[in-house]
Amino acid sequence: MAELKLHIDRFKCAACGACVTVCMRDALILWGTWLDIRHENCNACSSCVNICPLGALTLEEQKGV
Ligand code: SF4
Ligand code: SF4
Repeated sequence: MAELKLHIDRFKCAACGACVTVCMRDALILWGTWLDIRHENCNACSSCVNICPLGALTLEEQKGV
């Protein structure tokens, strides 16, 4: 079964922090201007994808594994 995995487009992300604020599972951390994902905490709720003003976050299907 395919799982959704959060992906960051580093060219689009401006490190505004909006996604970090909206994530209820502490899955997003901003280290200075570097956004990090704790995939083990993410439940693919898509709140961060919807709030990002620059469309830098996407949920993509992971095949296999
Ligand atoms: S909301 Fe978008 S632009 Fe802002 S830090 Fe998150 S991914 Fe980057
Ligand atoms: S998809 Fe949901 S749980 Fe995953 S990082 Fe975004 S807001 Fe957090």
